[in-house]
Amino acid sequence: MEKEVIVRFAPSPTGYLHIGGARTAIYNWLFAKKTGGRLILRIEDTDAERSTEESIQGIVDGLKWLGVTWDEDPYFQSKFIQEHIDAAQRLLESGHAYKCFCTKEELDQKREQARKEKGAIKYDGTCRNLTPEKIAVKEKSNLPYIIRLKVPNGEGAVSFRDEVYGLIEKKYKDIEDFVIVRSNGQPLYVLSNAVDDIRDGITHVIRGQDGLANTPKQLLIYNALGADVPKFAHMSLTLDSKKAKISKRRHGEIVAVHFYRERGFLPWAFVNFLVLLGWSTPESQQIFSKEELIDAFSLKGINKANSVFDVRKDDPKFFTDPKAISINAHYLRNLPVEEIEPYVKAEFEKAGIWDPEFEGEKHNWFLNTIDLIRNRFNFTTDFVTLGSAYFSDDFPIDPKALKKNILKHEGLKEWFPVLADRLEALQDFTMEETENVVRDMADEYEIKAGILINGARAAVTGQAVGPGIFDVLLAVGQDRVVERLRKAVTFFE
Ligand code: GLU
Repeated sequence: MEKEVIVRFAPSPTGYLHIGGARTAIYNWLFAKKTGGRLILRIEDTDAERSTEESIQGIVDGLKWLGVTWDEDPYFQSKFIQEHIDAAQRLLESGHAYKCFCTKEELDQKREQARKEKGAIKYDGTCRNLTPEKIAVKEKSNLPYIIRLKVPNGEGAVSFRDEVYGLIEKKYKDIEDFVIVRSNGQPLYVLSNAVDDIRDGITHVIRGQDGLANTPKQLLIYNALGADVPKFAHMSLTLDSKKAKISKRRHGEIVAVHFYRERGFLPWAFVNFLVLLGWSTPESQQIFSKEELIDAFSLKGINKANSVFDVRKDDPKFFTDPKAISINAHYLRNLPVEEIEPYVKAEFEKAGIWDPEFEGEKHNWFLNTIDLIRNRFNFTTDFVTLGSAYFSDDFPIDPKALKKNILKHEGLKEWFPVLADRLEALQDFTMEETENVVRDMADEYEIKAGILINGARAAVTGQAVGPGIFDVLLAVGQDRVVERLRKAVTFFE
């Protein structure tokens, strides 16, 4: 029987959940789902100074928003420090590690010397072969020590087949006897991370490329502890369009998952976008339902080449990667309207213009209106900005629409009230009737219907573009349309 797949997402809670971390989490989650395995969320909080409660909460919230689910309560690495120390102890006892009593000054000096001689800047192994007697003497005088792993001597190499990068090899002679426990007794991350993966029975380590530097060392730890080695899949870097590595320092909040949530992204759309940042199918499929994605996902599809996240923070139209925006727009416009309703509702609540009637008597109208106006929208926030006139009487008028569609035509000062009167007089406020009113009036006054239509659109919605005007009039409703047309003459004052 195949072994059950167990993967983990192991963030260090030292900041917000960023797109790189989210992508790693999503790949692990998809792989667990695909294989019927389990995903563990392991918070690597052993760096007490940099880890914060706020960051843990942010990561958990971000994952929940994305819909990434894990299978047990989160593990906290800090709870297992004693296990990491015990593992180091076992390595000492089995002769795979040794105590190094060299002082910091001595080590600095050796490094300096090596630099001068242009030799390998690598621990020279002074304490590697101390006799038990010498060790006993040093221990007796309570000399501080660190613990180093004994890297095999000779010509060999650590090698493994990365699921993404293929064969990776590092010669023993290029790895120094690295530290696994500090002089204050604290285990190093490279040890803790490996010991946790062993304890948790991790079968596949799917992580960012930055983990690759640790992998050869960790393989030595696995071997020294006699543990089964998991498979490794390291993901390529994400670069911006200028080939700089994506980072919080360089790019700011734009790399944070919460930024997208606040800007009106649908979580699944964002997952879809992130997945494609470094993974693809042979057919280059772009849009996936959850089931399709789980079905299509495999480690083989992870790209070796670095991916590009086309940050355009200085471009107001594309404040982020245009592909992220177009995928979001796709979902926003095409999902069943009921599926986007909760996200739209959340925007209304945030903007303080939610009306419980939208879920009550006006529910059908609400859904129909969302459906009508969403075709030009890219973000859920658009419903309360560009679309606010449909839901509230307090809406802004786009200055360009005002100028081009209203102020340019002095005649509207006269025509708006007439149009308002005629629309008010309608028994049946239908698309057909309203259209007749507008067309007849245009004929009668010998003006282009477009002037009335565009003027009415600007007066009624505050926008220069939108759905067909007669749909708009119907959605906004007779009373409000009439009132807004009458009020529009004040624009000329
Ligand atoms: N805690 C590490 C990080 O946040 C993850 C290392 C790993 O996945 O092995 O970068």
